[in-house]
Amino acid sequence: MAAIADTLFLGALVVTMDRDDRRIDDGAVAVRDGEIVAVGRRSELETIEADETIDATDHILMPGLINGHLHMGDSLFRSLVEDLPLEPWLERLWISERAFVTHENVSLGARLALCEMIRSGTTSGLDMFWFPEAGADAAIEAGFRLVTGPILFDFDGPDGIANEDRIAVGERWLDRYDDEPLIRACVQPHNHLTVSPEGMQAARRLANDAGALFHTHCSETATEVGSTRERFGRTPMAHLDDLGILEGPTALAHCVHLTDDDFDRLARSGAAVLHNPLSNLKLGSGIAEVARMLERDIPVLIGTDGPVSSNDLDMWTAMRFAGLLQRGHRQDSTLTPAREIVRMVTSAGARALGLGDVVGRVAVGLRADLILIDLAAPHLTPMFDPYAHLVYAVGRDDVRSVMIDGAFVLRDRVLTTLDEDAVLSEVRTLADQIRVHAASVAGTDVS
Ligand SMILES: [Zn+2]
Repeated sequence: MAAIADTLFLGALVVTMDRDDRRIDDGAVAVRDGEIVAVGRRSELETIEADETIDATDHILMPGLINGHLHMGDSLFRSLVEDLPLEPWLERLWISERAFVTHENVSLGARLALCEMIRSGTTSGLDMFWFPEAGADAAIEAGFRLVTGPILFDFDGPDGIANEDRIAVGERWLDRYDDEPLIRACVQPHNHLTVSPEGMQAARRLANDAGALFHTHCSETATEVGSTRERFGRTPMAHLDDLGILEGPTALAHCVHLTDDDFDRLARSGAAVLHNPLSNLKLGSGIAEVARMLERDIPVLIGTDGPVSSNDLDMWTAMRFAGLLQRGHRQDSTLTPAREIVRMVTSAGARALGLGDVVGRVAVGLRADLILIDLAAPHLTPMFDPYAHLVYAVGRDDVRSVMIDGAFVLRDRVLTTLDEDAVLSEVRTLADQIRVHAASVAGTDVS
């Protein structure tokens, strides 16, 4: 076969996550102009002419991981507030956020998060934070695929945008990033208690007009459900459903506390659930009924949530917890098969975010978001079931190289687009200021 490729991977175990769940031993993948142009066995593809041929023997080559829910900017506040339930924890966190959330700092937090995510094999994420343009620009600079967009709150935030201007500002934001190939837009009100019913509906219209995903938090804690019942006389899911908020592509973070009626509404709506097992456990929020969601064909993605609550952006740990939790919770080791967990962070995750024809599978015609996992390690030897390895044995240090849109962003464990030393140094300097401020607020030393 004579063809020209930019990059040709040879000899990997290719875990395609395609519609037939094909796995190719001694496999090969060719990439040209950012697109996957051939997938097959080494013997079929090794004659392809390529600018660069990569020996991928003893590696898994698979789609990059998709983090379904995160707050990149919160990486600046990692471990600042600990050991509180969600509501008082948020109140305390927001004091520091208000003091330090500027465009410049959010950009720094995003770059920190991107270093961590790329190193660990994550190639896309759904991010909600102040100054979403700072996150989007940092992602473009890093060559990372990001779903993000305007956020909405009813109170004045650190971004200086007046509440009544948020929709208009959001419209301009969506226009501005419309042609960015690495950015996929979403509209993201924080939740239905911090945004009024009218605000939620305006956000839904904004999303639908732009053909964008709608992303919000829903039913994270029992306290939230109680407050929603008190204020609106119904559960968060019923509230969103009755307001028409679920009409259109929707992603709901958490969904920990759902009634039978909520389950029916959720399943009918087609909305995706963003499951954050570590954050839910650490904040004592509860255990989302993920196995039940899968039984109802509700799309589920896995996320890390912000590094303030979970406390890192490691998708491998999140996958492992997602797999284990349902089994322990329901005392049934047949639940959440490993392959299903891998689908959530690749093919199914991409589909739920509207990226199913773009990424999430190793298939011809898709963009080349690919990761190489080094199998030459005691904890990965032997390997009889790659899916079980990916969920229960692989860790972020096993990720050797990461390609996004056909370009290496991590090469032999070295970041190629981000200056990690500079980012860490800037973050340490800022952390000193955050520490002093937090101590002055609390009247105690935060060390
Ligand atoms: Zn969140």
